[in-house]
Amino acid sequence: MGPEPRQNGPGKIYLVGFGPGAAEHLTTRAARAIRESDVVVGYTTYIELVKDFLVDKEVIQTGMQEEVGRAARAVEMARQGRTVSVISSGDAGVYGMAGLVFEVLGEQGWKPGDGLEVEVVPGVTALCSVASLLGAPLVHDFASISLSDLLTPWEVIAERIEAAARADYVIVLYNPKSGRRTRQIAEAQKIISRYRAPATPVGIVKSAYRQGQQVAVTDLAHMLDHDIGMLTTLIIGNSTTYRIGDLIVTPRGYKSKYDLSKTARKGEGEGEL
Ligand code: SAH
Repeated sequence: MGPEPRQNGPGKIYLVGFGPGAAEHLTTRAARAIRESDVVVGYTTYIELVKDFLVDKEVIQTGMQEEVGRAARAVEMARQGRTVSVISSGDAGVYGMAGLVFEVLGEQGWKPGDGLEVEVVPGVTALCSVASLLGAPLVHDFASISLSDLLTPWEVIAERIEAAARADYVIVLYNPKSGRRTRQIAEAQKIISRYRAPATPVGIVKSAYRQGQQVAVTDLAHMLDHDIGMLTTLIIGNSTTYRIGDLIVTPRGYKSKYDLSKTARKGEGEGEL
């Protein structure tokens, strides 16, 4: 059993992103939020990833697709005066639990300042951790698209892929494939290929900063030959993205303005980098 409620009034909900997986990529604030919590709620695999932080906590683990129950339970416990961390991988606000918890609260008529406190604790989202393993593919504008059509109709997803491809965004694909859902990634590749060269660099990262990490750099024509699953994120370059060995770089445009073989002069930049 976890500790008893610490307060009598309404409690607090932390919506915590714990980053890609390894403890050193979990922020100090996220660690403190989990430590301060009486209850930690999350998908079983995620609970496993943060188990070192869970000594003396009540832990509520649930399976996939039990998100609604998980969110409702977290709200209920916080209303009883407890401090509850709802954990998501990466960032809780990027395809994570943050939105659903706010939706459940909204249905109950909750508003900020109503007593029950909610704090979103930012985390390192997959696109950042995946990009870091690939070099610098996201240095220019990018679009992030989830290929999961469980909650979003495929027509909407396909339209967004097409729009992003047409507008030459670097494209990040979350939730590319699962055991039952295999068609979407092939369709996405087909749509993007209408607008981009077959040699466009593509980075495929599975389980970034977790056990079983795999990094592959390939191109648009060959991306489907690689192992892609539920724990994979893909980054598809734009028309200027290029490779340096096994790394992918999207230029910001400095080369058109500066001679990069010389040391850049100070004060010529475009503000903070
Ligand atoms: N809230 C999470 C995203 C959850 S959606 C975040 O901000 O990162 C689940 C998808 O995230 C997976 O299908 C995969 O595409 C991506 N993902 C999450 N963790 C990952 C990791 N460690 N390595 C690669 N992709 C990851």
